[in-house]
Amino acid sequence: MKTPSKINLFLKVTGRCENSYHSINTLFMPLANPADEINIDFEGAAGISIICDTPEIPCGEHNLCHKAAGKYAESRGITPNWEITIVKNIPVAAGMGGGSSDAAAVLRILNERYNKLDENELAAIALRCGADVPFFLSPRPAFARGIGNVLKYPELNLPEIPLLLINPGFPVSAAWAYKNLSPDNIGEVPADYEQKLSDALQKADLKKLSRLIHNDLATACYEKFPILRILKTELLASGAAAAEITGSGPTLFALCGSFEKRDEITSSFKRNYPQMNIIKSSIRCN
Ligand code: ATP
Repeated sequence: MKTPSKINLFLKVTGRCENSYHSINTLFMPLANPADEINIDFEGAAGISIICDTPEIPCGEHNLCHKAAGKYAESRGITPNWEITIVKNIPVAAGMGGGSSDAAAVLRILNERYNKLDENELAAIALRCGADVPFFLSPRPAFARGIGNVLKYPELNLPEIPLLLINPGFPVSAAWAYKNLSPDNIGEVPADYEQKLSDALQKADLKKLSRLIHNDLATACYEKFPILRILKTELLASGAAAAEITGSGPTLFALCGSFEKRDEITSSFKRNYPQMNIIKSSIRCN
């Protein structure tokens, strides 16, 4: 199963929770590219095993796929013989939800096979695996509240919006980004914000969208990694309509007014930053 990445077009931290989590208000957009590939062999050795092509990812119990499979088996009293294969294309610790997406794919595959859990039960297990996992159970544009798990799906019939992603190649942990969030950034979102975002998206009005795109977690990333601010400034100077960090960073996304513009910017950034991972993508609704 192919499982997508995501960007947060908007991310506002609205409060601190007691359990060290933060409440947020965000707009998740799934991206078909980059996507990971998850498969499960149901006749593997006893237990749950993970095979992954990316050395920096843990293959044991700390892998989010392992965690998801373990919780599914436990909740339904299944004795697993599952060998999970992960082909990673989504940059790791990049703010693109790779691990969460993989975990959700495991839950979807298992539930297709065993058909044991209803939507709410599956969402509850997903949430125990991570705050972003419930979104990836049914990846489509979603406003999220709570810790990212209370999802609302706007009626959108979007034109395709070209974008490019720049992953600078170093990881940023979500825990670090939240720890370095300035308390001044925490606050409420204006009541009409979601409507404004939906309208701008629906019309692919990139000018309006660029004024609404925002990420509270970006400030700490720009301070610690000045290259990110330089990249953002260069993206805008090259003609991107908007550019921002996604999630807890460090990946930057840039929305472009046309596919030609996206390709032109991609080529020039690939020339200037050959060591970085620069990916062409687009926002699509279907
Ligand atoms: P998010 O945007 O959801 O906060 P992220 O995209 O920044 O997450 P991930 O790529 O999910 O970050 O990786 C976060 C950490 O989870 C990494 O340190 C990684 O080692 C660990 N991890 C465990 N399982 C996986 C997996 N299947 N894929 C990627 N990372 C995993």
